[in-house]
Amino acid sequence: MARALVTGGAGFLGSHLCETLLQRGYEVIAMDSLLTGDLRNIEHLIGRPGFSFIHYDVTKFVHIPGKLDAILHFASPASPIDYLELPIQTLKVGSLGTHNTLGLAKEKKAKFLLASTSEVYGDPLEHPQKEDYWGNVNPIGPRGVYDEAKRFAEAITMAYRRTHGVETRICRIFNTYGPRMRLRDGRALPSFLTQALQGDDVTVFGDGSQTRSFCYVSDLIDGIIRLLESSVPDPVNIGNPTEMTIEQFAREIIAATGSKSKVIYKSLPKDDPKQRRPDITRARTLLGWEPKVPLREGMAKTIEWFKPRVSELPR
Ligand code: UDP
Repeated sequence: MARALVTGGAGFLGSHLCETLLQRGYEVIAMDSLLTGDLRNIEHLIGRPGFSFIHYDVTKFVHIPGKLDAILHFASPASPIDYLELPIQTLKVGSLGTHNTLGLAKEKKAKFLLASTSEVYGDPLEHPQKEDYWGNVNPIGPRGVYDEAKRFAEAITMAYRRTHGVETRICRIFNTYGPRMRLRDGRALPSFLTQALQGDDVTVFGDGSQTRSFCYVSDLIDGIIRLLESSVPDPVNIGNPTEMTIEQFAREIIAATGSKSKVIYKSLPKDDPKQRRPDITRARTLLGWEPKVPLREGMAKTIEWFKPRVSELPR
């Protein structure tokens, strides 16, 4: 039986990944500092044969007894508000955390998959973004802590591949949504959905003309598993190429919830990327992957998960 370590295993993506790996017959160890992760995301897995959880901060030296076949490094604060509140933790988990997990991969001769991000492209000057675009990142801006940590993480991943022969994979994850996103993580979907379900004003930043492309979580996890099980050494964009403005996205959410909320406009955060859409040619051709879940369908499942949780929020 293959044995995998998932850092950030109690997070939004990490918990879905643990679940899918278990279904595929892996033994799974989830590790999480619970800084932004939540045990409720994996409570249904605790006690299942083949699943274990370690409460641990991956920025410290990591030791796992026994064999490991795969390490998937998903630990990191992941929303712009988190980077503002946890800038040093964000830098540490992307740098020290990646170093530690790569060291472990080398020791165990395990495959290593890095959860990287479309943020490595910064506020992109090329559109859509292909993997060979080097990006336009402000290293000293508020998002720089995340962008540069992930750029460093990619660099050290390639260094371990070239120097130590570690079998590495790099996944550049674009905006993803679905059940288990933190209600108050400040990202567009949880904010808009919570506001719409509560009948509050929906806060679009700037004039709402900036674009994003939203991928449903099951599609994203499918792409990650395909990448893990492939032999592709180069970074691969995984995301949904259906691009829309944030204003359109807000209106879709208001319509999907049947809410009477109206859109209001707030100031645009510094260095907010103006446009983002993955070019997924590489994933299509090398992994045979492309997203299948349309926004309406993914949104319906996400609303179903959010509804009872939003109704429990203190007003
Ligand atoms: N956004 C918004 N209102 C919110 C939260 C986010 O208009 O309440 C905008 C944000 O400025 C950005 C887009 O939605 O242009 C996506 O933001 P998110 O935080 O989800 O992720 P990002 O893609 O910027 O990392």
